[in-house]
Amino acid sequence: MSVVGIDFGSLHSKIGVARHRGIDIITNEVSNRATPSLVSFGPKQRALGESAKTQEISNFRNTAGSLKRLIGRTLNDVEIQHVEKKFTHVNLVDVDGSVGVQVSHLGEPTTFSATQLVGMYLGRLRDIAAKELKIGVSDVVIAIPGWYTDVQRRALLSASTIAGLNPLRLIPDHTAVAFGYGITKADLPDVENPRHVVFVDIGHSSMSVAVVAFSKGQLTVKSTAYDTHLGGRDIDYALVQHFAEEFKAKYRIDVLSNPKATFRLYAAAEKLKKVLSANAEAPLNVESIMNDIDASSKLTRDQYEQLIADVLDRIPGPLQRALDESGLTIEQVDAIELVGGSTRVPAVRAKIQAVYPGKSLSTTLNQDEACARGTTFACATLSPVFRVRDFAIHDIAVYPIKVRWEKTPTDEEEDTELVVFPRGNGIPSTKVLTFYRKAPFDIEAVYADPSALPGTDVGPSPTGDFSTVRVKARLNLHGILSFEAVYTEEVEEKEEMQKKKVVKKNPVAYVTGYGGLDSSVLTMYSNDKLVQDTEERKNALEEYIYDMRSKLDDRYAPFVQSLEKEALLAELSKDEDWLYSEEGEDATKSAYVTRIDAAKKLGDPITTRWREAEERPKAAAQLRETI
Ligand code: ATP
Ligand code: MG
Repeated sequence: MSVVGIDFGSLHSKIGVARHRGIDIITNEVSNRATPSLVSFGPKQRALGESAKTQEISNFRNTAGSLKRLIGRTLNDVEIQHVEKKFTHVNLVDVDGSVGVQVSHLGEPTTFSATQLVGMYLGRLRDIAAKELKIGVSDVVIAIPGWYTDVQRRALLSASTIAGLNPLRLIPDHTAVAFGYGITKADLPDVENPRHVVFVDIGHSSMSVAVVAFSKGQLTVKSTAYDTHLGGRDIDYALVQHFAEEFKAKYRIDVLSNPKATFRLYAAAEKLKKVLSANAEAPLNVESIMNDIDASSKLTRDQYEQLIADVLDRIPGPLQRALDESGLTIEQVDAIELVGGSTRVPAVRAKIQAVYPGKSLSTTLNQDEACARGTTFACATLSPVFRVRDFAIHDIAVYPIKVRWEKTPTDEEEDTELVVFPRGNGIPSTKVLTFYRKAPFDIEAVYADPSALPGTDVGPSPTGDFSTVRVKARLNLHGILSFEAVYTEEVEEKEEMQKKKVVKKNPVAYVTGYGGLDSSVLTMYSNDKLVQDTEERKNALEEYIYDMRSKLDDRYAPFVQSLEKEALLAELSKDEDWLYSEEGEDATKSAYVTRIDAAKKLGDPITTRWREAEERPKAAAQLRETI
């Protein structure tokens, strides 16, 4: 069984795996430790992660990013209309009540929901992990923003199902970072006198702050605060606006009117931003930005900080709120740990420092990988495969949840709602609600602040008499609310040796408003698998061609006769020509397999001879040892 942790980032994602010697962040097919969070569609196939990144500019209308931001929202969500649209070039549409994209896929206009896109993308991450571990991957823990709502969490679980993954837990990213921090510390104090750490994560699109108390064997999240849309992309955006304006006068071009030019400017702005994190001045150069014009400019750090002042000014808010809500004073905070790429910006650090004066800002954690690492630790803890030392997580709910129900017609005074899980309530948590009813009634859970949870109906009581109905509301490990059990209670008095009350629990049939995945999503998954297998076989053929060619002149040279070599090379050339022809570019899985098999028929005898020659001295040495 695999132990895998995924930090699903808005820009790119990182994958951790647990092995017996520890936790590793793994690399993808092009040896990067982070995989772009992108899905792209083309006339022939889909591209995921790195391959989607290579066509992000040329195929921008059919390339979807911001996956983590889109999932679990509606098209009319203000966050989509006023925030995400600024960063998206793909056509956002409504797909059965949630936001999705319309793209040209296999030459046809096609819509995909954000849940499906995330499903495809997670499938790629699963494959990267499976390739590394050489086993099938199913159990994972996925890091999510702490501010994800119930709907967003459910959507991510659906996406995981599409990808054939089984999330053991959705863990808020700050909690994952804190867990990775705590579990590796041997010197934590006793529970009466905990160590308080503030974790500040500013990534590409969002900011989170968590105040966490650590003591021997446990961590307790005391408070959290967020800015759900503040991060590196806002800095890039401000820079792009600035240079676009400058280039209007300087080169008489309107960069923002041209999506490809805008992309190029974004890439250059991000580069300049990174240079300015370490230098007082940085150049900006974009070759052939548009109309064959090479654009260039530069920025000092002072100018830069003025340009991004609006972004910087939003940083103190969440820092202060988290501290206030934790009930701690700044003196009681022992450490401030920074993670997330954007905490590398000196002006960002200065803002954090100003809110927490006199405290040093530490970066003892790997800023880019701490979240994936902690997430993987969390998976190892939940998995039966590894023994991890006990380290408990006491996490808290961000949004208060209230339950509403229908009034009994005869009881005018009755309350009809109750906050069941207040803000800061522990996760997971179960509460039992008691009702005295005669007939079926509706009950629903909603966020006490308005973003609503879908309704849940409790249905028919079998008898028509009044009975006590108990509803078990559970806020589960993923931070998702469900009504888990509905039952009536009958009290029987038994007069035997002693008077004893026996409570008999009778389950009541009930329907919840939340169904499973719709079947089209699941069909999509099986199609996906074929597309993926086909791509894999295609790559295998390509790899075989190049691998054999180079080895024939190298390690296999002493083991091959010239006629044999000629025949094999001819076969490989034929395969290569075919592979790059229109037919081979987009063939069926079996067509690739047939060609690989045919080439191997010629190649395998050579490989075998070489391997035997390699093994012989080893076998002889072994024999010598045993004698
Ligand atoms: P999120 O957590 O918001 O979903 P993410 O996890 O994908 O996003 P990170 O990997 O934490 O994001 O950070 C990426 C951001 O950090 C990008 O905007 C990137 O430009 C920025 N960044 C990375 N290195 C530097 C640097 N040296 N200076 C300034 N910004 C940087
Ligand atoms: Mg992140």
